[in-house]
Amino acid sequence: MKAAAGDPQSPFAGDPLTNWSQALRAAGLRVTRQRLAVIDAVIRKPHGTIEDIHDEVRSDLPRITIQSVYFVMNSLVTAGIVRKLELPGSPARYEVEGHDNHHHAICRFCGRIEDVACVTGTAPCLRPEAHVDMTIEVAEVIFTAVCHECATTQQARV
Ligand SMILES: [Zn+2]
Ligand SMILES: [Zn+2]
Repeated sequence: MKAAAGDPQSPFAGDPLTNWSQALRAAGLRVTRQRLAVIDAVIRKPHGTIEDIHDEVRSDLPRITIQSVYFVMNSLVTAGIVRKLELPGSPARYEVEGHDNHHHAICRFCGRIEDVACVTGTAPCLRPEAHVDMTIEVAEVIFTAVCHECATTQQARV
């Protein structure tokens, strides 16, 4: 079973540094300062792009290159520690994998992203009605939206 937020097994419970070190080891990865710094940056900048995360990591490791952040990030995604979001019209974005199967609402004007809790919390939360000759694993729902600020400015423009 996968750990959920609030679960004592989850890296979110207890001392974060110890828990992330454990999560890295459990995934067969060495605990390095770079990996811990990238995880920390992803926590501080949820849904950040690789550039956002690089800026954030530089406050801990001023000389780290964007390529290093990119390599570290890929290892964390493969290990299931970080979730990579591929949203339409947007560069890849990253967030800590909370195993809550949450979805995303995106403002179609400014690109702002918000989490939308999943109704069931486990994947797949939707099953196609029509028969599909495959085992459905994940249903990723993207809600296209207009945020409050854009709703106000868009109305002002009309
Ligand atoms: Zn907006
Ligand atoms: Zn999210």
